Amino acid sequence: MSAQPAVPSVAIVVPCYNEEEILRDTCAELLQLLARLERDGTASATSKLYLVDDGSHDDTWALMEAIAAREPQVVAVRLSRNRGHQNALHAGLAQTVEDAVISIDADLQDGADNIVAMLEHFRDGSEVVYGVRTGRASDTLFKRFTAEGYYRVMERLGVDLVFNHADFRLLSRRALDALLQYPEANLFLRGMVRELGFRSSQVEYERRERAAGESKYPLRRMLSLAWSGITAFSSAPLRAITVLGLCASAFSFAVIAWVLVTRLFTDNAVPGWASILLPLLFIGSVQLLCLGVIGEYIAKLYEEVKQRPRYHIDQVRHAPGSDVRSADKTPAAASEPA
Ligand code: UDP
Ligand code: MG
Repeated sequence: MSAQPAVPSVAIVVPCYNEEEILRDTCAELLQLLARLERDGTASATSKLYLVDDGSHDDTWALMEAIAAREPQVVAVRLSRNRGHQNALHAGLAQTVEDAVISIDADLQDGADNIVAMLEHFRDGSEVVYGVRTGRASDTLFKRFTAEGYYRVMERLGVDLVFNHADFRLLSRRALDALLQYPEANLFLRGMVRELGFRSSQVEYERRERAAGESKYPLRRMLSLAWSGITAFSSAPLRAITVLGLCASAFSFAVIAWVLVTRLFTDNAVPGWASILLPLLFIGSVQLLCLGVIGEYIAKLYEEVKQRPRYHIDQVRHAPGSDVRSADKTPAAASEPA
């Protein structure tokens, strides 16, 4: 456990993609919260709100710029294009300098008030505080079923995840600096944070409905994140191929033995369509499946080996004189500080 400062500075990081409908309310609520925390002596006056525009196509950036010009506590960061939630969140985290850093979605479905409880855990010595949903009443039946099923599958595959924890969490400076050392391009932050260790705790909450706008996580993106999580943290599918291959070989040897016995020791040697076609199709399909899974891993290796920057920062806006990390300290240095 590291000694935390008496009054820590707090950063709240919010990735935003086409969030013009709710951005204003979200900012107002989070700034009010920061003001309250400062009054209570829970957060220092240097606390900040980081907004990351993940290449939105609507007026999100214009709104952010206006807010950052008006509010000295707001830092607005714009990525050069849409890079997805995990990358946008990472970009925001990498900008912070504060003692405690909280990430939350722009729709505040996770409830901004839960940050107060997270900071209490931080004060008591936790370096990682996971926001954990107690139920999924605000989800559709489909999402609830698939999401909970996914956590169970990940558990079976030996991936260490906090059940029903997404990306609402608090990280101490030390934990965040450790996280930022992970060089991988395929970000699955909830898995990476589990790798860190450090003293951790959980804050439970009931997730609310989205106030406005629609989910920026359609099924396609959800599946892609789920698959990233599996391939980035588990080699179980590779092992499954070996088992499958063994079973397929055992089956084909049995068929071969049967064909030989029929041919050599009986008169009814009629190896018909079925006995030729069935193993042929079976082995062919199993091989294709295996090649596909191996290909997935090779694709991931390829991406990692390239070591491309995860994102580029287009612009950073903040009120004149406010103390922020200069953009060239971020991992992707192609940025133009405003
Ligand atoms: N988001 C993002 N980039 C994307 C998609 C989403 O930064 O490409 C942000 C989005 O603005 C929100 C958060 O990620 O702050 C979670 O998205 P959303 O609330 O739509 O997901 P859901 O709650 O439906 O899972
Ligand atoms: Mg949401």
